[in-house]
Amino acid sequence: MTIYKALIPYYMSQFKCIGPQCERNCCAQGWKTDVDKEHFLKYKKIVNREWKDKFQRYVKRNRQNVEKQFENLFYAKIHLDEKGKCSFLSENMLCTIQSEIGSKYLCRTCSMYPREFINVDGVLQCALTTACPEAARKMLLNKDTMQFDFIDTYEYGWDFNCIVHTNKNLKFNGALKYFYEIRNFIIDVLQLKNYSLDKRLTILSIFVHELEKLIKNLNIDTIPELLRNTVSKINNGEIDNVINSIVVPSQVQLADLNEIIQYNFTFVHQKEYMMYVSEFLTGISYSKDVIFEVIEKNYINSYDEYLKPFLNEYGYILENYMVNNAFKNVIPFGETISSNVVEEVYNFVLKYSIIKMLLTGIGAYRKGITPELVIDLISVFTISVDHSKVYMVEALKKLKNKGLLNLEGLIYLLK
Ligand code: SF4
Repeated sequence: MTIYKALIPYYMSQFKCIGPQCERNCCAQGWKTDVDKEHFLKYKKIVNREWKDKFQRYVKRNRQNVEKQFENLFYAKIHLDEKGKCSFLSENMLCTIQSEIGSKYLCRTCSMYPREFINVDGVLQCALTTACPEAARKMLLNKDTMQFDFIDTYEYGWDFNCIVHTNKNLKFNGALKYFYEIRNFIIDVLQLKNYSLDKRLTILSIFVHELEKLIKNLNIDTIPELLRNTVSKINNGEIDNVINSIVVPSQVQLADLNEIIQYNFTFVHQKEYMMYVSEFLTGISYSKDVIFEVIEKNYINSYDEYLKPFLNEYGYILENYMVNNAFKNVIPFGETISSNVVEEVYNFVLKYSIIKMLLTGIGAYRKGITPELVIDLISVFTISVDHSKVYMVEALKKLKNKGLLNLEGLIYLLK
């Protein structure tokens, strides 16, 4: 174990795995857990005969092609039973590795989940994923603005999901030297309570397009000036004129997003997610036999009747979701999709737009939206869509082909 200085959101301290009481236990979701090399070798060396046999039977070497840098992390996989449950899970949904031979035998994935760790210049940064419903509750149901705190002594002994060297990294033409200034600005904008979340994301879209221009033209040292100017435009209201001056495509956003949501099915097969999509389609009366104007009218009515009032009261849920994503995915420098800040933000905004749109249709189907529904949808969405890199890459390609991978397209998604 190494002792790190760490930056973590306040909500982390309130999280505790609820194991057997969990409605979506992560060990029973059909995920083949990745086992790191260190633990795979530890399993081989165990003296206890019964456990030696179990490890031999249920932990198998990963023979798929894995990038060299990840070989040790994805060294082996845990076998699932016929119901898609981890082979080490007991009848009463408890981990038998932990209860019978101790947590030192838990591999990296099991020890960390639902935590995600990155390393920025040697400072560990940790957040929870909303794939875990209990983590989603602790993180999203908090009315107070999400806050972060530095801890001086955080023990951590694993590899990181992502390592950022702000001064050595040549990616983004060196813009990472302003990593903290940009990230703090992004989180501040996402928490601007006097604007709707749609408008906050519009401001970020405008900012990131300007940032991309500076990065492309190697004007890295004018980034602080861009930050100052944008803050000043927000403070004096000038940002509204900038937003109003952007000509957004006039096509119907519903049709494009609906196409993307339905396109999910090529990549996403999680049954709970498919159930939500089906509720969404029924809610807006989507059918090939119904003319588009009627579907659109239903959608607008449902938004006004269900989602709008819900957001007025519980807007902090989606705000917290976006702040957490921005923090843990190092937006706009996340390396999951590309090394282009605009595409990173596009990916970020697209997820939000899909969730909002699904909620609008589901609200009409269920005749109401509750915080519990939103937490569950976000958890299912994270497992199904957010974890599918292929889907997000393909969705971005689809929008690019429609000519929507630009500032106007981004704002169009937020309409
Ligand atoms: S999903 Fe979260 S609360 Fe549920 S069992 Fe896994 S870690 Fe525990």
